[in-house]
Amino acid sequence: MNYIILDLEWNQCPTGKEDENSSLPFEIIEIGAVRLDETFTETGQFHEVVKPSVYKKLHYKTKEIVALRSIDFASARTFTEIIPEFLSWCQDALFCTWGPADLTELQRNLAYYHIKSPFPFPLIYFDIQKIFSIVYEDRKTRRSLESAVDFLRLPKNIAFHNALSDAYYTSLIMKHLTAEQVRNNSSVDYYRTPQNRRQEIYLTYETYVKMVSKPFDTKTQAMKDRVVASTVCYKCKKNAQKKVRWFPAGSRNYLCLAYCEKHGYLKGKIRLRQRSDGKYYAIKTLKAVSPEEAYEIIEKKEIIKLKRKLKKSFTNGQN
Ligand SMILES: [Zn+2]
Repeated sequence: MNYIILDLEWNQCPTGKEDENSSLPFEIIEIGAVRLDETFTETGQFHEVVKPSVYKKLHYKTKEIVALRSIDFASARTFTEIIPEFLSWCQDALFCTWGPADLTELQRNLAYYHIKSPFPFPLIYFDIQKIFSIVYEDRKTRRSLESAVDFLRLPKNIAFHNALSDAYYTSLIMKHLTAEQVRNNSSVDYYRTPQNRRQEIYLTYETYVKMVSKPFDTKTQAMKDRVVASTVCYKCKKNAQKKVRWFPAGSRNYLCLAYCEKHGYLKGKIRLRQRSDGKYYAIKTLKAVSPEEAYEIIEKKEIIKLKRKLKKSFTNGQN
């Protein structure tokens, strides 16, 4: 199996959000990719600058990134000219990126030009930024590409923020991961999410399970759904009893604590996300946790409850 490490540079509306084309907020202006075989040995490169069609002037942020090199957009080909070549070059590969955005924006650009998506559903890929954090750090930190290169003391002989050089540096970082570390920590792309119950996505990892739900009209409906709210122990498939019901922790996150007689405490987390059609879907993870971590969830709930009480009495006192 081959891996394609993809890196895109994109431009956005130069005059701000209010003038942007809402179906294409980020227009791809450069495609860089490195192909690796199953031993992470490089077997090819793809690099092309894309002539912009929607935003012909560069946003100041894009300018900062491309200022360091002289990009000739005038002689470049357009996205619709380049993309068939690129996609056939990618054939039968697993995609790797630095961060979760590139495949989403690639699919949005394809949809804008009514080009049929070659990607399967669900689209499973490898976010090397996330896997780097899982293997070398705390799972939560997200380093910039350059700082990960520094962390591993890799040579920095070419400039960053060129689509090909960023794909190349990502490939160097991949060589410091094992195939197992990469394959065991896949991600799912959220550009296309399940349309109905049948399409719902279930993924099993070493230490947790993840579920991506169908759409709901409101956040409340999502949280009331029996499948979304359920806490089935992923080790024995039996219903784990809730010790702390789902409670809001932040505006779109919910936590809960469940207990399986056989496998102990399970921490539940739901993130609600909005789709482009305004509907909501849930990303639920369930993870086995220690009694100490279970206690932290209880503590968190109590703190949130107390804060709410305090706020209420404070605003009442002011009236
Ligand atoms: Zn169990």
